[in-house]
Amino acid sequence: MKAQTIGIIGGGQLGRMLAMAAARLNLTIIILEPQADCPAAQVANEQITAAYDDPEALAELARRCDIVTYEFENVPVSAAQALERSVPVYPPSKALEVAQDRLTEKRFLNSCGIETAHFHAVDSQQELEAALADFGGKGVLKTCRMGYDGKGQRVFRSTDDSPAGAYEALGSVPLILESFVPFEREISIIAARAKDGTIRCYDPAENVHRNGILHTSTLPANIPAETAATARAAAEKLLAALDYVGVIGMEFFAMADGTLIANEIAPRVHNSGHWTEAACVISQFEQHMRAVAGLGLGDPDRHSDCVMTNLIGDDILALPQWLATKDVLVHLYGKTEARRGRKMGHVTELKSRKTSSQG
Ligand code: AMP
Repeated sequence: MKAQTIGIIGGGQLGRMLAMAAARLNLTIIILEPQADCPAAQVANEQITAAYDDPEALAELARRCDIVTYEFENVPVSAAQALERSVPVYPPSKALEVAQDRLTEKRFLNSCGIETAHFHAVDSQQELEAALADFGGKGVLKTCRMGYDGKGQRVFRSTDDSPAGAYEALGSVPLILESFVPFEREISIIAARAKDGTIRCYDPAENVHRNGILHTSTLPANIPAETAATARAAAEKLLAALDYVGVIGMEFFAMADGTLIANEIAPRVHNSGHWTEAACVISQFEQHMRAVAGLGLGDPDRHSDCVMTNLIGDDILALPQWLATKDVLVHLYGKTEARRGRKMGHVTELKSRKTSSQG
């Protein structure tokens, strides 16, 4: 089989884990990332140290790679489109366009028959007040673009929460007001689609966030089988509509009546899928590389129940205890400085492993 070279735009921990999975499949990895010695480049074959939209760097990536993929959803769409003219880019740039703007994302999900929170576009303080009035004073105000881990958001819990100055406080940029979803729990599904249209889904994870950042993902999620099937069906519709290739993460709010409301999508491997490297034979990272390199999708079956916990900032101080615990897979991201809110690594604890001990 001809050795393939895959370019990855972005050099964070997701790129690092993709590069590690790629190495096992004899794939050569080139990372495009402006920060030198980034987490991904530490384990990849090579790094092109340049901005994500640097035309020369993009031309070099296209020339040297058989396929280009990415590890974060804010890759400039123009860069992905420029690459697409000379090299296959998976997932397609359309997925970036949809995921980069919360309004476009919600409209696209709705057009696929996937339910989301109700929403209003907000482009002024006046529009915010009108939108809030429509939702009875409650809602979640978010920047349309560049928000992640709860950043660029404001929650209105009742009419007592005054919206005065809120439009300006979020930067006077295009905003979306979402109706407040009284969810019972949050879940996500990691799914993959190959070029031939084959789709494989991992089991949905149940997620707990702290300060807007994912804290734990637990498998199995405490949801009925029909709810899991609804998540799978939504992922299948979305992937087909985008003519997608690669792994996607979809987050949902699970309601008390078992229905689901889609929150957001990430056209890449996802933090709530890190458990797959410990509890499945084929991780989301290998699955993504298989999909983009055309190697055939692996079986996403889960052999164990598990809990994945993010190590954020000072959580890293508990590393000795984690390292000493049985059935825990520790994964660190090669970041030297433990800043507040910074993802340093994660651990996955296997909870009920299938065993066949020989005594
Ligand atoms: P997001 O950045 O959209 O993932 O939002 C971060 C977190 O805020 C979510 O994981 C939820 O816990 C909460 N949240 C976001 N949107 C809503 C909503 N419309 N209703 C209730 N809670 C929300």
